[in-house]
Amino acid sequence: MEEKKINLSRRGFLKAGVAAAAAGVIGAINPDVLKAENASLVSLDYASPANGNWSKLVPKMNYGGASVRYAEHNDQWLGTSQIVGEVQNISEYDNGFTMAIRGELGEIPRWNYVTQGKRDPMASGLGFAISFLSTDKAVEGPAPPRAEKLPVPDPEIMSKHIKDTCYYLRADEVGIGKMPAYAYYSHRISPTHGDYATGKIDPNLLMEEIPVTERLPYVICVAVEQHLETWLASTGYDGIAKSQSYRAYHATANITVMLAQYIRSLGYRARAHHFANYASVMGPILIACGMGELTRTGDCVAHPRMGFRNKVAAVTTDLPLVPDKPIDFGMLDFCRVCRKCSENCPGEAISFDEEPVKYNGYLRWNSDFRKCAAFRTGNQEGFSCGRCVKVCPWSSKEDSWFHEAGVWIGSKGKQSASLLKQIDDMFGYGTEEITKYKWWLEWPELFPMPAGYPPTQTTQPSK
Ligand code: SF4
Ligand code: SF4
Repeated sequence: MEEKKINLSRRGFLKAGVAAAAAGVIGAINPDVLKAENASLVSLDYASPANGNWSKLVPKMNYGGASVRYAEHNDQWLGTSQIVGEVQNISEYDNGFTMAIRGELGEIPRWNYVTQGKRDPMASGLGFAISFLSTDKAVEGPAPPRAEKLPVPDPEIMSKHIKDTCYYLRADEVGIGKMPAYAYYSHRISPTHGDYATGKIDPNLLMEEIPVTERLPYVICVAVEQHLETWLASTGYDGIAKSQSYRAYHATANITVMLAQYIRSLGYRARAHHFANYASVMGPILIACGMGELTRTGDCVAHPRMGFRNKVAAVTTDLPLVPDKPIDFGMLDFCRVCRKCSENCPGEAISFDEEPVKYNGYLRWNSDFRKCAAFRTGNQEGFSCGRCVKVCPWSSKEDSWFHEAGVWIGSKGKQSASLLKQIDDMFGYGTEEITKYKWWLEWPELFPMPAGYPPTQTTQPSK
């Protein structure tokens, strides 16, 4: 009898929840739907995962051949990142791009950042689409969650269903994690980054800091790959760099806005966090969701298959879920012997140090996000930058047995990391520009700041 009741609920959440999200309706679940058909649990007959919580559509995570181990998430460790003190919630007001908007990195970076979404024709198209998703209504929903919560008798089944939903909505990778409280911003900015970056608002509009009070227990993280052939043809900081980012940011924003609304339609709280409207920092979220490790670049997280040739977004929620485990594929050791990103960074932002250092209560490489933001927003050869993404041995290759074998070797420890780095250098991987893939148009006349700028007020208030 009890088993039958559970089957009905599982069936019910699929039928009622998907229908409600599709129709954009937030109403009560029709009890007749819950009572209908109880014989199709077969459609949710997921095989028990050997390690972690796979999905039905992607039964096994694709780590691209890397040797992956599971790591800890507790008070001392977040994956392979050691916590050595109190990790403070940071304010979005202090991040590099916000500093650019406020004018603290100079006039060219400020002008570049607030006009990038309009000046470059392709970025303008993508930014226009993103601008519709930057509102609080898009990320928080048009109304509170449905009053009646759908029962979730088996959080593992629900976790798999949520992953399948994300893959269905075109995510390339999905993970679920326990939401670290320190991953929330202490304050977010209003207007949002997306409002400034896409040119939706007057850039002179004064920015406010809004306290972030949400604390939800789970986070669902999605990644969408940036286009490989385009990376192979690009320097990483030429005219296509901004569109490379925007293309994947738009995709992740779309997925998370839809997913959050779906979850609210099931009666649970959910907020989307994406490039154009964050209330949290993505680095610790990615690690908590088993989607990567910290790298020499500072707070950027690399995935074993994609490296950091992807963009990510997340949904925080109180929907009952079973979190994945953080992963360890040897990135810390690899970054100790590889300095390709440091050697190739045009902004001289990435550390050459031997070891990570203490930073805000945890250990990470001593890279300088201000220098990175200054270069990206002041870049006179293009719009933005992703040179470190392009040259990283983990993110720069095509899918092939040769690359998979290299990644497997590289994930096996410091000695083998050194070998993979040498092979990578020998083949010139990551540093070449393969012109046969170059398909985009360049607009060099759009890069320089015009004479006479700025016409009016230029800076936002400093702290
Ligand atoms: S994005 Fe460019 S400037 Fe920033 S760290 Fe990477 S290579 Fe350096
Ligand atoms: S380029 Fe090398 S050092 Fe830099 S993040 Fe990638 S593996 Fe680490």
